[in-house]
Amino acid sequence: MQLIRQMTKDYADYLFDESRTMGKAEYIAFPTGEAELREAVIWCAKEGVPLTAQGGLTGLAGGASPARGLALNLSRMDKILGLRRYEGGTYYLRVQPGLRLTQLRRALAAKAFDISGWDEASIEALRPVKAGELFFPPDPTEPTASLGGMAACNACGARSVLYGCTRAHVNALRVVLADGRVASLARGRDRAQGRHIALPLEDGGVFEAELPPFDTPPIKDAGYFIRENMDLVDLFMGSQGTLGIISELELRLMPAPKHLWGLTAFFPDDENALAYVRAVKGRSDAGVPPFPHRAASIEFFDKNALDMVMRQKEITPVFRRLQTLPENYNCGVYVEFNGDDPSEMTPILKDLAAVITAVGGDPARTWVARDGLELEQLLFFRHSVPETIDLIIEENKKKEPCITILSTDMAVDDGHFDELFHIYRKDLSATSLHWIIFGHIGENHVHPNILARTREEYEQGHMIFEKWARDVHRMGGSISAEHGAGKIKKKLALIMYDPEKMKALVALKRAFDPDLLLGPGNILTIDGEAGA
Ligand SMILES: Cc1cc2nc3c(=O)[nH]c(=O)nc-3n(C[C@H](O)[C@H](O)[C@H](O)COP(=O)(O)OP(=O)(O)OC[C@H]3O[C@@H](n4cnc5c(N)ncnc54)[C@H](O)[C@@H]3O)c2cc1C
Repeated sequence: MQLIRQMTKDYADYLFDESRTMGKAEYIAFPTGEAELREAVIWCAKEGVPLTAQGGLTGLAGGASPARGLALNLSRMDKILGLRRYEGGTYYLRVQPGLRLTQLRRALAAKAFDISGWDEASIEALRPVKAGELFFPPDPTEPTASLGGMAACNACGARSVLYGCTRAHVNALRVVLADGRVASLARGRDRAQGRHIALPLEDGGVFEAELPPFDTPPIKDAGYFIRENMDLVDLFMGSQGTLGIISELELRLMPAPKHLWGLTAFFPDDENALAYVRAVKGRSDAGVPPFPHRAASIEFFDKNALDMVMRQKEITPVFRRLQTLPENYNCGVYVEFNGDDPSEMTPILKDLAAVITAVGGDPARTWVARDGLELEQLLFFRHSVPETIDLIIEENKKKEPCITILSTDMAVDDGHFDELFHIYRKDLSATSLHWIIFGHIGENHVHPNILARTREEYEQGHMIFEKWARDVHRMGGSISAEHGAGKIKKKLALIMYDPEKMKALVALKRAFDPDLLLGPGNILTIDGEAGA
């Protein structure tokens, strides 16, 4: 089968990601391994054709919607390649970038690996592993995301409160650079010297460049990661396919928690929910006795989000099994705990009930999940919020093609979160837009979403986001905690980085990719770049 194919209407589904940003491409390729991936990249370099890497196409910022040139779809690079057990007992799994999270989870849960092609050491390492014993914690809530795409966005999701984001769980990478050469990088082994980077290449050469003279925000951020003496692996985590194409990842696995519990509490007002979150996080300004347990996940749903899901429950058959909300609901907060001993659950629930009462809620008006099945119900409810947004945007787009998902994931520190939340509420309440707020309140980045119905509303939404980006920049925050700037939010990236910093990032990009062929239109504002 020919590697580089003409783009035809048969491939129309590869022109957009989940944000519904419509792209265009002249060619498409589905490499099945690193050699074919390199072949495609080298062809692009020779022909001067830009290329956009695509994983699961679940991104929410248009990063994988190709701006032009070649759509480099990695979905056929979805193999698990091997396993290592290092001193201390940690397991590392080598995977291709197109492997979907759902495939990885299934393999780990059932110990069902296709070991053809594995080396002896990997087969030996797998032997003592029990089904369900190991897990990969990052959970961007959309299980069809690919591991390469998650790394390229440093995806986080619901459980990163406890486990951290994808970056924390990737130990090594192989990366195909713009000229087709391959860098093989391992955490701890390959580091910058101050701000000088020297990437060891497979062909024996070294790729050298200088990092920008500033650090990216210390807040959770899905964009470039820049630090002195940084691990070079991290340079590609969050670069959204603009510096190189990840062709292999080594994932750090963890012992899977044996028990998961969850509880969704409902509150009469957002202020009660904010107080609850402060308390569950054990913050000293919570105003309640210290809550001694560590949550894995803390998720918020405002009234508009709950109303939206209830309306969708009426009209979409798959949503009929959603729970019915308690009467007079206003907003809700889902909290999850992971542990190894079921006896841990009773004191957690008891302490949580005390906190709920202390902040003005009612422990009787909660949904409690004590086992996997019940938890699945609560998670299904959580996932139904972004799923419903998708459905609504798809409908709205039929009437106004310029519409895409307008979802923000700006992050600030604990000290600024309540201020930011109140800004969101005030600015949105002053409009007649259809909006909702939900998401990862545990790490100070909820997702205000504007569900635009017209071009005017869509443009108004962008202007509101730009205002928030300035607010967040003033607070020292990040314009995108986990989805990345992609194409939809590159204007916001320009606010966060300011023109001088943007120039320095572009200089880094040019060092890696002098002809600007990788991920055109993503993150960076580049003077003179066509279609950027
Ligand atoms: C319903 C829903 C809920 C979501 N919730 C969350 C959430 O809670 N938290 C969260 O973090 N995310 C969330 N996401 C979005 C999230 O960004 C993606 O799920 C994931 O991180 C991207 O994976 P992907 O394989 O789909 O990447 P794609 O969308 O295909 O690509 C994303 C970016 O990565 C680049 N890329 C892809 N593969 C490679 C590669 N091998 N090398 C270099 N660059 C590459 C692309 O060019 C693009 O810029 C959600 C998405 C949906 C649809």
